[in-house]
Amino acid sequence: MSVPRARIKAEVQRLLALPGGSARPVPVEDLAWLDGIAVVLQPMEDDEDISGFYMRNGDERVIGVNASHAPVRQRFTIAHELGHALLERRDGVHIDSAFKLRDATSSQAVDPEEIAANAFAAELLMPEDDVRAAVSGGIDMMDDEGVRQIRDLARGFGVSQQALMYRLVNLGLAFDGKAVF
Ligand SMILES: [Zn+2]
Repeated sequence: MSVPRARIKAEVQRLLALPGGSARPVPVEDLAWLDGIAVVLQPMEDDEDISGFYMRNGDERVIGVNASHAPVRQRFTIAHELGHALLERRDGVHIDSAFKLRDATSSQAVDPEEIAANAFAAELLMPEDDVRAAVSGGIDMMDDEGVRQIRDLARGFGVSQQALMYRLVNLGLAFDGKAVF
């Protein structure tokens, strides 16, 4: 079942309105805790493939993150699992592999719940208004200045450059020379 974009935006707005939510990079771990969702960092060296998981048992909601991964990846994982936590209601355990998440940052995800969790993560980590304000008019990805802008912006949002570029393309803010993607 696909999740309406408006619902995703509304949940993200609610989170960003929590204390500290206006900080950038968005303090995803703090916001999860403020919303009553525990975040547990666990080294998962034995299974590099696991990015994280989301577990719900009634009112108890826990997000697990692979502490072996780089901070930027951990942030994306937390934001993605938060999407599962806030957009889905059923009990159980959901495990996300690194492969699944990597794919999911591209347009290749097909599972509606993964697509929704990724859209949620992108909106939470890179709020649309912030991105539009930061790149007024768009970024030329083929240009040295554009490359520098993407690097600085990705750092400012605490995301990978790949995630930012995908976001820019999605919002129609990325250019390749003269052509709009
Ligand atoms: Zn997932």
